[in-house]
Amino acid sequence: MQAKLAHISRLPSLPTVAVQVVQAFSDPDVGVQEIAQILRTDPAITGKILQAANSSRFATGRQISDIHRALMILGKKVVSSLALSFSLAEASMNNGPHVEYFKSFWLQSFVQGLTSELLAESEPSISNGEAFTVGLLASVGRLAMLKGMSDDYIPCVDAALELGLPVHEIETERLPFTSTEVSVDLLGQWKLPEYFRAAVELQHTPTSAMSQVFDSQDSRMPHIVAVAVAVGEYFAGGQRGLALARLYEMMEQLLERPASGVDELLEDVRKRLEENASLFEIDLAQLGTPMELLADAMQQLSFLAATSVLEEDPQQRAPSELMEENGRLRKRVAELTRQSSIDPLTSVFNRAYFSRRIGEEIAVASIQSESIGLLIADVDRFKQVNDTYGHLMGDAVLREVAQTLQNTIRGNDFVARFGGEEFVVLVRSADLDGLVALGERLREAVASTQIEFDGLTISVTISVGGALGLPTDRPHRFEESLFASADASLYSAKNSGRNRVIVGPLEFTGDGGAVMERPRRSSDANGSPTPTIEV
Ligand code: GH3
Ligand code: MG
Ligand code: MG
Repeated sequence: MQAKLAHISRLPSLPTVAVQVVQAFSDPDVGVQEIAQILRTDPAITGKILQAANSSRFATGRQISDIHRALMILGKKVVSSLALSFSLAEASMNNGPHVEYFKSFWLQSFVQGLTSELLAESEPSISNGEAFTVGLLASVGRLAMLKGMSDDYIPCVDAALELGLPVHEIETERLPFTSTEVSVDLLGQWKLPEYFRAAVELQHTPTSAMSQVFDSQDSRMPHIVAVAVAVGEYFAGGQRGLALARLYEMMEQLLERPASGVDELLEDVRKRLEENASLFEIDLAQLGTPMELLADAMQQLSFLAATSVLEEDPQQRAPSELMEENGRLRKRVAELTRQSSIDPLTSVFNRAYFSRRIGEEIAVASIQSESIGLLIADVDRFKQVNDTYGHLMGDAVLREVAQTLQNTIRGNDFVARFGGEEFVVLVRSADLDGLVALGERLREAVASTQIEFDGLTISVTISVGGALGLPTDRPHRFEESLFASADASLYSAKNSGRNRVIVGPLEFTGDGGAVMERPRRSSDANGSPTPTIEV
């Protein structure tokens, strides 16, 4: 290993102070006085530690204006973990051409630290400060490689993204050593305890094997770090889908918590990240919204489920983790895709989610005596798009139409893919004119969107049918009537030439169906017929 590591010309240049503090970190012979002395030689780090000590992160309720006092109140482990964070943040600052890689390294590492700390809070035998440090350092080898051998390392990161494989798989294949090996080596050089190194070394162990592993301290530190690494990957890495699948497994098998704990954990980590971002130089702008991350993960998972990566074909080059846990992961992927509320192709809500939500919306609207509007948008002559340009162009059209609808609706309303090339929009407390106007805005937005795919640019149109009603007027079967009316409007829109909007109020017939009364066309409003644009 040493020989291998000799290849690395430049290890991360952590400030001497940080290295000394880290070395003193778990040495019982080094006292608070001594650490205070080391820290005082670096005013920048000292200043930041004091700022952190007085921030909401620790909420001590006391003004801490001196490093010695910080050590007394927060403890040696917490203060040294802070010193380490600030110097790692500093070492990750880079204005060169690889700035994005450094930024995402630091985001990932910091998320790992926060997650470990959070999980350690319910493990009395593990100190939160220690857990934070181990999580923070678990991938420090990547920083060393980014700095010392970027020409070899960055192509690995890029290849992982492109191939949809975890970076460590690519490292194993292409490099003489992995970043995890480098991390372990660095922790050794810094004389951190053996059980820190064990936890870091085991971070990518398959879950089934991991559940058998406890470190020499018989603690759950390896489990915590493995979960933290997957959370880091989910927030900042390229393999969001696999990370999510792995998280669900680990939640049940390692942490013995229900799978629903994953959502809770991700939410808690995000909250903590937002609270700490400015202090630790995290750029929150690079973090996607919860919806975006989940949609991205689901997209990757459904891609994996659909491609041969999960096939049992031994010839197929698949990541070892997937090969080993093939059957279970496959089941998990299917389950996750089903449970998810996101349509993997278009990243808007799926039909299952829409069906759950509309029930709730009707219940609320009915209590508040508010009307509910529904628009159904169907792409015109979509079959022709597929037939003329191929299914991949068809898919690109669906993604663009979905995003255009999503970007055009108001915050309170929501859009879902109902199936095929059909989208639904639920509109709260609408009136008839408002609903017509929204339908018209959607129609125009889609018609004016240029869809580029594979060197071609096309545009499509939609027909929109809508209906509006007060749930209190028809407490039972309201949903059914709303759909029947909107569908009837859509049918009229298609029959009267497409690329138009027709909306009507609900009118109930005796048998639960609905008929339309005085349906409105958007073209009624401006007096001119709406153009029909054929593909
Ligand atoms: P109309 O204007 O009357 O709505 O005509 P249309 O061609 O849009 O309607 P039709 O229902 O005949 O065709 C819908 C097509 O959508 C048929 C189906 O193959 C295609 N489709 C459904 N789901 C997908 C998908 O996920 N991707 C792609 N590329 N095509 C899809
Ligand atoms: Mg259709
Ligand atoms: Mg259609």
